[in-house]
Amino acid sequence: MGEIIDGKILSMQIKDELKVRNAEFEKKFGRKIKLAVVLVGENPASKVYVRNKIKSAEYIGIESLSFYLPEDAEEDEVLKLVKTLADDSSVDAILVQLPLPAHISEEKVLDIIPVEKDVDGFSDRNVGKLTLGKECIAACTPEGIIELLKSKNIELTEKNAVVIGRSNIVGKPIALLLLRENCTVTVCHSKTVGLKEICKEADIIVAAIGKPEFVKADMVKEGAVVIDVGINRTENGLKGDVDFLSVRDKASFITPVPGGVGPMTIAMLMKNAILCAERRESRNGL
Ligand code: NAD
Repeated sequence: MGEIIDGKILSMQIKDELKVRNAEFEKKFGRKIKLAVVLVGENPASKVYVRNKIKSAEYIGIESLSFYLPEDAEEDEVLKLVKTLADDSSVDAILVQLPLPAHISEEKVLDIIPVEKDVDGFSDRNVGKLTLGKECIAACTPEGIIELLKSKNIELTEKNAVVIGRSNIVGKPIALLLLRENCTVTVCHSKTVGLKEICKEADIIVAAIGKPEFVKADMVKEGAVVIDVGINRTENGLKGDVDFLSVRDKASFITPVPGGVGPMTIAMLMKNAILCAERRESRNGL
């Protein structure tokens, strides 16, 4: 039976390390790190995520400024707020919780966040740098996945990794990070033919589909490492994209939902906020 990779415990350890790093920052630069959080609308999942992010920031000692706009806020209003935060020299990092209501262009909003404040790593320039293998702020969920794998000393070099899902926030960036770790990466999506056969060849499967218990045991090779990114609210509670009980029997390692990738995403967000502030101070010092 596969070993569970506990993202809750690992994220707590990381947050404790970040607490120390944050205190060192404050001591050295005589100020607090400031993270601006923007939430538009009433999406219940987004509200929970934002609450948890703010709680983690408090725990570490990062000051969070929260901005809540109603569901029917005009696009211009959101753009104006983000522009103000972008221009505010006291703000180190900006997080706009996605998804935005349908009438607001995510692209336009994300485009206003300067690359150096882009704590989520979603801006064109951060994604470009990630693609080129340059130093960057990488998206938090994919970064968290790499940390989970490394925490168990799972060898990545030469391994076949199959990513199911090609979204900009999970599928594509995790494929790039795994490539950086010398995996041979296959990215599958809704139009992939022969998904089951492709998955059966994988040493590592990352499931980021958004369909409850989509990955079944017959898609998984004996001894594979299975990372479940999915968060699906069902009548039977929160479910991942992996049929946990049956897949666990075959996997060597597996992440649970909840308590796997989710908490790591928040820990990486906090790390990125500190990185934004540290890099800003080092630029100021030049
Ligand atoms: P998305 O909807 O943007 O992308 C889903 C991807 O799955 C698409 O690329 C699509 O091609 C692929 N897909 C859909 N049906 C498929 C099929 N039948 N076969 C193969 N591929 C298929 O979703 P996303 O934003 O990448 O999120 C995926 C899941 O991860 C969701 O459940 C989301 O809630 C969760 N998520 C979790 C975290 C976290 O911190 N744990 C962060 C982001 C997203």
